[in-house]
Amino acid sequence: MKKCPYCKIEVGGNTDKCPLCQSRLNGEAEQAYFPKMEALQFRSFLYKLQLLIVWAVIIVSIGLDFIVPVRLPSYPDLHWSLLLAMWLVAFEFLIMRQFKPGTGSARKVTMMVIIILGMLTITAYYLGFVQIVLELVIPVVITGTVIASFVLTLVDKNGNAMAYFLTDLLFGVIPSIVLYICYRTMPLAWMICMIVSLILVVGTVIFKGRSMTGEIQRRFNL
Ligand SMILES: [Zn+2]
Repeated sequence: MKKCPYCKIEVGGNTDKCPLCQSRLNGEAEQAYFPKMEALQFRSFLYKLQLLIVWAVIIVSIGLDFIVPVRLPSYPDLHWSLLLAMWLVAFEFLIMRQFKPGTGSARKVTMMVIIILGMLTITAYYLGFVQIVLELVIPVVITGTVIASFVLTLVDKNGNAMAYFLTDLLFGVIPSIVLYICYRTMPLAWMICMIVSLILVVGTVIFKGRSMTGEIQRRFNL
């Protein structure tokens, strides 16, 4: 047990300083009362370090792009540093969200997919491959997301995943219908996306019908 030479009290654990007068304690330390937080501190340091590196990259690339200026060979008019900055800022936002407690994995997945697909569409627009993104990449990714959130809904005990599954379904079905109404055609990948979404709706009604109607009633105050 440690002792304070001034306050004449005994202090348990392995603290160095007196809790009353902040003087250095004498005597033998006991086993620590509180667990050491070194792992957490190290993770926090790594997080700050990568944040500094990311901002350094953004500042350097904007400098190269606008002041030097260094441009991509095939795109002499493109401010590539702004696209890069957009991706890096979104990357930081997603890392921040991942560490935020209390948000379910279904929500994280849905949000990540929406942000990444939005940025991919913007990037593709400026680099000139927007058609393949709209007709192939987006429906394939949405199909994967719908399947993933369906699985999360099946294993989720609290019913929190259901809202995101229903959200993902909207992304899986509505674009296909809009495309068909506007252009009378549906790209193959979108058709597959819609079929998979509809099959999973049936699957949800069969396996989770009660929690699905409960979720819809809760969200829309029926
Ligand atoms: Zn003291």
